[in-house]
Amino acid sequence: MNATMRAMVFDGGSPILAERLVKVPVPGAGEVRIRVAACGVCRTDLHVVDGELSSPKPSLIPGHEIVGRIDAVGAGVVGLSIGERVGVPWLGHTCGQCSYCLSGRENLCDAPQFHGYTRDGGYAEYVVADASYCFHIPDTYDDEHAAPLLCAGLIGFRTLHSAGDAQRIGIYGFGAAAHIVTQIAVAQGRTVYAFTRPGDRAAQSLATDVGAAWAGSSQDKAPTLWMLP
Ligand SMILES: [Zn+2]
Ligand SMILES: [Zn+2]
Repeated sequence: MNATMRAMVFDGGSPILAERLVKVPVPGAGEVRIRVAACGVCRTDLHVVDGELSSPKPSLIPGHEIVGRIDAVGAGVVGLSIGERVGVPWLGHTCGQCSYCLSGRENLCDAPQFHGYTRDGGYAEYVVADASYCFHIPDTYDDEHAAPLLCAGLIGFRTLHSAGDAQRIGIYGFGAAAHIVTQIAVAQGRTVYAFTRPGDRAAQSLATDVGAAWAGSSQDKAPTLWMLP
């Protein structure tokens, strides 16, 4: 394999993202290397390159909705093999020792690492990931449709899960996560109400296009069932 790869690099200069040739990363113990097939764009990527998050790694490769196939496996990795397709999210490593990690809430870890922020992400030909933070991707999804599930889908599904078996779901703010979770909730037979910024017709029509029963301003009162068609 070539020793270099193409990558989009953010270093705080201009242009915001620069295409560069960088070294192909080598997986360490417990890590795998993935040949990237697709990587979505999350609002957080924009926060990072706009300088709104305080401590990105130097010469950062952003991107954390990554799908690709494993092409190298580091020492000690079990359950993942070369050629397997996986997805890689924002959360890229946790300490395994803090009170949050030990209580099954590693998303709150005291010493986390994040793809596309404190470790390199997916806007490159290859990315190295902690094997513990790689997800198997079912064959029913192609690369492009699987990628957004790694952040927008994951966040949306977590909130839907937290809502229990509620039949009427109100979503405030209608972006990437909402447009996925609405489709899931509607497929489950639930009714979705979308609240957007006042006058955001584009978000409101997206909401009704993907199945929301009602879409309106966050300053509006929630409609009651009798108001619905
Ligand atoms: Zn994200
Ligand atoms: Zn921890």
